[in-house]
Amino acid sequence: MTIVGEREESETSLKRDNNAEKHAEKPEGGAEWGYDLYPERRGKKVGGIEGFMKGRNNIDKFKCERNVYTCIKESPLVRLMMNALKSSGCEIDIRRHIACEECSPTVSGGYDPVLNQIVICQNTATNKGLIQGVLTHEMIHMFDYCRNELDFKNIDHLACTEIRAANLTHCSFLSACFQGDASLFNIKEAHQNCVKTKAYQSIIAVRNVTKTDAIDAIERVFTRCYNDLEPIGRRIKKSSTDIHKAYSEGYLFGYD
Ligand SMILES: [Zn+2]
Repeated sequence: MTIVGEREESETSLKRDNNAEKHAEKPEGGAEWGYDLYPERRGKKVGGIEGFMKGRNNIDKFKCERNVYTCIKESPLVRLMMNALKSSGCEIDIRRHIACEECSPTVSGGYDPVLNQIVICQNTATNKGLIQGVLTHEMIHMFDYCRNELDFKNIDHLACTEIRAANLTHCSFLSACFQGDASLFNIKEAHQNCVKTKAYQSIIAVRNVTKTDAIDAIERVFTRCYNDLEPIGRRIKKSSTDIHKAYSEGYLFGYD
């Protein structure tokens, strides 16, 4: 699950993370596993004046699909993940496994394990940078679901895959530096806090669990999941050199 605003780093500590609390307000419908964040999945029409919204919807979908196609063609990080999935025996076909849809405005993407599909939210993931972030994040979930026998209903499993997605994609050295209290001496700690905060926000956005349950799950699995860098092998930083490095080192893991 990728939530809106994930690229704006700010919180360094779960304890001060009051911001994430607002993600606890769930949309009605009470779908326990967060699928109500993706109304089109459940055959619902997205509100508004029917004709107008439909036109808007089609334009958004078209733009989104075009951006997805460009990312898959041009982004080394997305290509690395695609190759990693394929060579791990996890099928990924752009037309079957990636869908652009209208979502709840609080999320920018998601992974639907029932249909083995990545959802790109066409109304919130509106540029290539965001779409690259969503694609790589959700591909980590896809990889874990395919390779690590992930059970999304188990909160420890969910915490683990969200830790891995945050670690491998969102939380960079650069963002740690801008988190204010990070110095060269506590980068490592700042990075870990970034991963914990992201994972926490993702869990709380989709699951009806208490803050304590989410934090406990993260702490239980953190060390193991934080150190599991498959299938990328190194933490991806936001600088393009690292993305290129990640891609060129892909062969070391047998992914090309
Ligand atoms: Zn996620």
